Amino acid sequence: MTKNKIDYFSKKILRKRGRILDKLSALEKDLEGLQHNQPKDWAEVINDVMDRETIMQKIEAEKENLRGVNEALQKMIDGSYGQCTSCEAPIPEARLRALPLARLCIKCQVVKEHCARQAC
Ligand SMILES: [Zn+2]
Repeated sequence: MTKNKIDYFSKKILRKRGRILDKLSALEKDLEGLQHNQPKDWAEVINDVMDRETIMQKIEAEKENLRGVNEALQKMIDGSYGQCTSCEAPIPEARLRALPLARLCIKCQVVKEHCARQAC
């Protein structure tokens, strides 16, 4: 992959990383707000518990996204960005433009999805 392309994708991924970090800090603030809540009755207690669970799930999902982003950035440093992690073929640029965090080429992705359904 050329330097220009790495430049393009790294900026794209770093912007994504910034958005994830913003979301994470907003979610953590929400969680903190809940901790200071003084529920007045059982219905509010239940609501708080549900809200907390929803927020925790969102935080987990954002952290998972962040792991993917960091992995892609690490690959850029290693020089393996844009390479399928399964067969090592180059991932087509169009696919990376749509999914900058793609780990697999289309062929391996199809096999993986097929196997997930068929349990092979
Ligand atoms: Zn592949």
